[in-house]
Amino acid sequence: MLPNGSIVEPTRKVLLIENVQADRYLLRNWLQAEKMEVYEAVDIITGLAACPKFQPNLILLELRLPTWSGYEVIRRLKNDPKTLSIPVIFIADSALTSEKAKGIDMGAVDFISKPFDPVELVARVGSALRTKALLDLLEQRAHLDGLTELGNRFALRDRFPHEWETCRRGENPMSVFIADLDHFKRINDQFGHAAGDEVLRQAARTLRRSVRESDFVARYGGEEFVVVAPNCDLDGAVQLAERFRGEIADLRVRFRSQPIQVTCSVGVALVSGDAEADALDVLDQADQALFHCKDAGRNAVWVWNPAQGGAIPANRPAFGALARPVAAGDV
Ligand code: GH3
Ligand code: MG
Ligand code: MG
Repeated sequence: MLPNGSIVEPTRKVLLIENVQADRYLLRNWLQAEKMEVYEAVDIITGLAACPKFQPNLILLELRLPTWSGYEVIRRLKNDPKTLSIPVIFIADSALTSEKAKGIDMGAVDFISKPFDPVELVARVGSALRTKALLDLLEQRAHLDGLTELGNRFALRDRFPHEWETCRRGENPMSVFIADLDHFKRINDQFGHAAGDEVLRQAARTLRRSVRESDFVARYGGEEFVVVAPNCDLDGAVQLAERFRGEIADLRVRFRSQPIQVTCSVGVALVSGDAEADALDVLDQADQALFHCKDAGRNAVWVWNPAQGGAIPANRPAFGALARPVAAGDV
């Protein structure tokens, strides 16, 4: 923890949207003297355009911009998911209380009136940057699984629609798979919970290593992992899943000098081409394929066959539309 009570050293990138050159000059010098990186913009167009490139941690926004006021800038910033969480501090000459209240109601974290007191300005900017760094850290932790450091369910929920939207726009396929460790309870029972935790950590590392850099991996439940594979058709996803299954079967986890062996079962599904594919639908299909895999003896990859509404083992020749699925009612 830092002496000022913050547990993180904030990144200090400040976007300054100010049309008055003399004020830009003053602010830039004061902020740079505090080791902040400053990007200057003179209007709404250059200010908004700077956000994706510069990735500011804070925006200092002049209220009385010509043409479009600062209110319009903050309205747009808060309506865009990519800029929504960037804190905004309004700056304005002789601001009225009602103007300050409106700015804060629209999402600004603070309002500083001109003429500036440099000491107060730097203190307020520093405070907003520290708060932002803490919120970023909390958000990051809220999306991470503490044991394996993979994404968690929240991360999956946020990431899935984003990946699918990108694939859909490019008319590319997307697949998911769910991998569940086999008889994991026995590992806990035989070797203890700490050994089980170590198996989970190593399985997670193996999974991260065996899929592609662009694939998103999450721990979905106790001993269940989900992979979202953008630009990947069913064949590609089966190959990924099969590689992971094989690597897990080869894994020897050493815990207190005892080698622990584990296998996994995997269910794979292709995201449907419908306009609004639902993460829950496709995960449910992968889960049904996984269920059949467990039922058929484990340590294998099964695929959801959408054409026939059933699951089939991936090692069956032509597992695609030609193969006969095991319908949900067959078992
Ligand atoms: P199956 O092959 O049918 O999947 O059997 P299984 O034993 O793997 O499945 P089951 O659902 O019966 O048991 C899962 C076990 O995973 C039970 C639970 O105690 C354990 N578990 C869940 N989360 C953790 C964890 O974070 N650490 C450890 N060590 N065990 C966990
Ligand atoms: Mg299991
Ligand atoms: Mg399970």
